[in-house]
Amino acid sequence: MSVLRPNLLPLSLPYPNSSSILPYPTRRLPHLQTLPKILCAAKRTGKQRYPSEKKKLKLKHKEALTDVKNKFDGIWRLSKLAVSVQNDPGKDFLGVSEGLLQEIAKAIKFPVASMLPPEAFSVIRKSFDARKMLKEAKFVYTVDMNVSELINLEPRTIDFISDLEPRVGLIEHMPLERVSGDIISIIQGCKKVEGERLLKEGGVSDYSCNAGTYKCTGSRKPKIAVVGSGPSGLFASLVLAELGADVTLIERGQPVEQRGRDIGALMVRRVLELESNFCFGEGGAGTWSDGKLVTRIGRNSDSVLAVMKTLVHFGAPGNILIDGKPHLGTDRLVPLLRNLSPKSTGTGCFNQVWDKGR
Ligand SMILES: Cc1cc2nc3c(=O)[nH]c(=O)nc-3n(C[C@H](O)[C@H](O)[C@H](O)COP(=O)(O)OP(=O)(O)OC[C@H]3O[C@@H](n4cnc5c(N)ncnc54)[C@H](O)[C@@H]3O)c2cc1C
Repeated sequence: MSVLRPNLLPLSLPYPNSSSILPYPTRRLPHLQTLPKILCAAKRTGKQRYPSEKKKLKLKHKEALTDVKNKFDGIWRLSKLAVSVQNDPGKDFLGVSEGLLQEIAKAIKFPVASMLPPEAFSVIRKSFDARKMLKEAKFVYTVDMNVSELINLEPRTIDFISDLEPRVGLIEHMPLERVSGDIISIIQGCKKVEGERLLKEGGVSDYSCNAGTYKCTGSRKPKIAVVGSGPSGLFASLVLAELGADVTLIERGQPVEQRGRDIGALMVRRVLELESNFCFGEGGAGTWSDGKLVTRIGRNSDSVLAVMKTLVHFGAPGNILIDGKPHLGTDRLVPLLRNLSPKSTGTGCFNQVWDKGR
């Protein structure tokens, strides 16, 4: 593919718009200048909501109300608790500060914030909101409130909990505390349950409950090849290996250390290594990037948390579980990939093959 530079084109081209600096004909939109300068696409709130939106919200609110069986059981999740920058200890503080207790007190309509025991609350998410539309920048929290612990530590909150009503997107009741582990512990748990079931049915000859391992009579390890050691390939290999398969992970690019050198050569000397660059090599496409941990499938969902916890298990910092916009960066991803490699996972059946002949 060749690229033509605009200044090499003949100047006598019959452009319809002679004032245009573009080297190709453009169509002028007459109404463009009459458009308002700021196009606001923010979410409609309060009175701005359409009647259909109000109806949906009412329905959701009704559902939330009927879902609460026992207010004194389980967890209440309080969202969008905004603490001003002056009242917050800073972005790296992930505990329950005085400023946050004040916002919690407002949410549950408890009059004296200092009487609330911080132990009853855990921060689930913390993000920073510095949009221009706000009067001042704020830290926005999502907090889980353990009701039984709260009432234990401060019995005077009992009346306020009995008056607490769920509010869509702000106050949510969850009957049971969600316990989600990393992928490895989830698989170990499933294996344990399955092993115990098989043991009961007499289908296994050798099962160790503590180790979570079992051998089925006459069964052989399935051999599986996974192609590509990007995030998908790495996690697929990890899951399969943990489930007991004999996995071989095939990668066309270089191991992460060599890949770093190849990318350095590309950036500094403009030498392109076809199989080891920004797209190809151990870690996959995003390894040399700012490392935002982006997902569109719900930040607090169990599956997303399981992936995040697995990253923490292999050496990522714990704050990625709470940060509103979690971020790793190449400098942290490289050692993490080393930890995730077959030798470190300790599975013993997760081999890596560098497909250099391609
Ligand atoms: C420059 C850049 C920056 C990015 N930054 C971010 C970010 O900050 N945050 C974010 O969430 N996402 C980011 N992304 C997107 C993210 O990298 C991808 O969504 C993710 O890598 C997709 O994972 P994957 O495993 O499906 O594919 P890939 O990561 O592309 O992995 C595929 C792997 O397969 C290997 N391979 C391909 N063909 C063969 C073959 N024939 N034989 C053997 N091996 C083969 C490749 O070498 C590669 O290692 C970025 C992408 C790029 C390109």
